[in-house]
Amino acid sequence: GLFGNKGWKPAWRDPAPKAEYDAIIIGGGGHGLSTAYYLAKNHGMTNIAVLEKGYLGSGNIGRNTTIVRANYFLPGNSEFYSHSLKLWEGLELDLNYNVMHSQRGLINLFHSDGQRDAFARRGNMMINQGDDAILLDREGVREMLPFLDFEQTRFPIYGGLYHPRGGTARHDAVAWGYARGADRRGVDLIQNCEVTGIDVEGGRVTGVQTTRGAIKAKKVGIVVAGRSSQVAAMAGMRLPIESHILQAFVTEGLKPVIDHVISFGMGHFYISQSDKGGLVFGGDLDFYASYASRGNLPMVEHVMEAGMTLMPMIGRAKVLRSWGGIMDMSPDGSPIIDRTPVDGLFIDCGWNYGGFKAVPASGWCMAHLMATGESHPVAARFKLNRFATGHVIDEEGTGSQHN
Ligand code: FAD
Repeated sequence: GLFGNKGWKPAWRDPAPKAEYDAIIIGGGGHGLSTAYYLAKNHGMTNIAVLEKGYLGSGNIGRNTTIVRANYFLPGNSEFYSHSLKLWEGLELDLNYNVMHSQRGLINLFHSDGQRDAFARRGNMMINQGDDAILLDREGVREMLPFLDFEQTRFPIYGGLYHPRGGTARHDAVAWGYARGADRRGVDLIQNCEVTGIDVEGGRVTGVQTTRGAIKAKKVGIVVAGRSSQVAAMAGMRLPIESHILQAFVTEGLKPVIDHVISFGMGHFYISQSDKGGLVFGGDLDFYASYASRGNLPMVEHVMEAGMTLMPMIGRAKVLRSWGGIMDMSPDGSPIIDRTPVDGLFIDCGWNYGGFKAVPASGWCMAHLMATGESHPVAARFKLNRFATGHVIDEEGTGSQHN
């Protein structure tokens, strides 16, 4: 603005791909960029490239509703998301980049005795994990969120599970911060470079085919979120992943009115207010598999109805935009960070509705795996073969539905 938008220098280089790297990351979303950053920073691997078919941040990292929390219940998820939240708390200092991490507090509402019991248990697990949780009764919620409809009798508000360290962060700034950090450590970030094939010889990965030519590497990480099944198929793998659309909505800018993240317990609806003033909200998946980055009207209607039930004042706000992203849904709602049957080929996927909050820990653990060949302790249960062995981490319904 003050400089007439002139003289800005690009925040990262635009290198041509080299013929060979020590490691390649496929996918320049949040997880791919954080993997590259921690490979360079924690493991000294700098002769690496991130290959992105579009532009950095064009996928789900720039499409999510920005909620960051550590309120998971099951061992496996619990320690992983707890680790991630701690990384979030130091991220701006680490990256020297303002990702607008705002710990404004998250409140999951409950509407029955049974739901209260489930949330009380969850809160105890969060506290056992070393994170924070406070069980609010109805009056406690009313004090914090007086604008909710406490009179409606269909889904009466019984209380809420309050997670004060939960909140939001600016999604694309997270991609930009990791991108700049990785670039400064020597990582090549190569945009408009789609991976079209994965080269495997004698059970070992040897490189990839791309729209910008063949590139060799002895280590390759697939980190492509909604496109995971398609890219893994290039190496002959069939993943336990389905791709579905998740939509989100933003209203015109309003004066500050909602200063927490709130999720409804009896329908799919959650909401926060962005720093620009827009009410940002969303709901559940469009329930059919799809690779289109936009959704359909039945889910729009469902989300609006749930919003009106919870806080009728939202009916006065005008919706400015809606969009969708392609989610990599795993059968148990939990992610995969693991080796594959192909030597040197690693995969990070299955983030479902909730992979934004996971960006720091996912990159941290995927980098650890790619550099050392061993799973990081906080991601040790995110195995690909758990669906064959039965060691699932079944937390889809209660964990990830609140984004
Ligand atoms: P992406 O940004 O999608 O990165 C994958 C990249 O791979 C893309 O840039 C894509 O172009 C690239 N790619 C694909 N195929 C190829 C190829 N062949 N060659 C090269 N590159 C390729 N999570 C939360 O924690 N909190 C939330 O509040 C939340 N809300 C959400 C709301 C919506 C509407 C959506 C869509 C998602 C939400 N999520 C949320 C989930 C979260 O955004 C995702 O789980 C996470 O961003 C996925 O990881 P990523 O950032 O690496 O994905």
